[in-house]
Amino acid sequence: MTSQRTRQRLIERLEAEGVSNLEVLDVMATTPRHIFLDEALSHRAYEDTALPIGFGQTLSQPYIVARMTETLLGAAGKIDSVLEIGTGSGYQTAILAQLIKDVYSVERIKPLQDKARQRLHQLGLRNVFLRHADGGFGWPEEKQFDAIISTAAPRTMPKELLKQLAPNGALVIPVGDKEQVLTLVVREGDSDDFHTTELEPVRFVPLLSGVTR
Ligand code: SAH
Repeated sequence: MTSQRTRQRLIERLEAEGVSNLEVLDVMATTPRHIFLDEALSHRAYEDTALPIGFGQTLSQPYIVARMTETLLGAAGKIDSVLEIGTGSGYQTAILAQLIKDVYSVERIKPLQDKARQRLHQLGLRNVFLRHADGGFGWPEEKQFDAIISTAAPRTMPKELLKQLAPNGALVIPVGDKEQVLTLVVREGDSDDFHTTELEPVRFVPLLSGVTR
């Protein structure tokens, strides 16, 4: 179930769905997704589907992880830092950490963050900074980020996140309530102008406010 062949089949499927960034495909081929799931579900880890991780949350579908990651890499200038809203299982975090120098990730549910921390440690990924907070406000103490990715959907575009985009930085985020659209926003140079592109309809868990212990 966790064999290289099973993983390779998932990668072929992602390619068939239009994912073309070879770096992203390589990292997804070598990152074990099963360790991000409870044992009872780990046999489904290499299916191209979202899976529950407890607390009413889900580990995103591999296609979505790949698509969001390649969109960011293709849209921003040079990316040395990325902010992720919604660490969840830590799987998307692990993918980013192998492609980008510094990864900052915010999660509002403490037990999910604790588990994610263990898994990232187990994989030897030391360039990840985790924070237990409401990510709707980004990570305001940090400087700006070259890229921001949200794996939870706000109803409307959060202005706080736009402020934390570095010049030529890119944000990928699902926006909407029942009907959500994966949206790319790119800051034009160091101006306060942003270019927005709607990519495709998606289904994410909602971005909620506040934190839980
Ligand atoms: N990237 C994760 C996806 C988890 S689902 C993965 O691949 O496993 C989205 C996550 O966003 C959930 O864990 C949820 O608790 C978290 N979330 C929702 N609203 C949030 C907020 N305001 N701040 C931080 N995290 C939030």
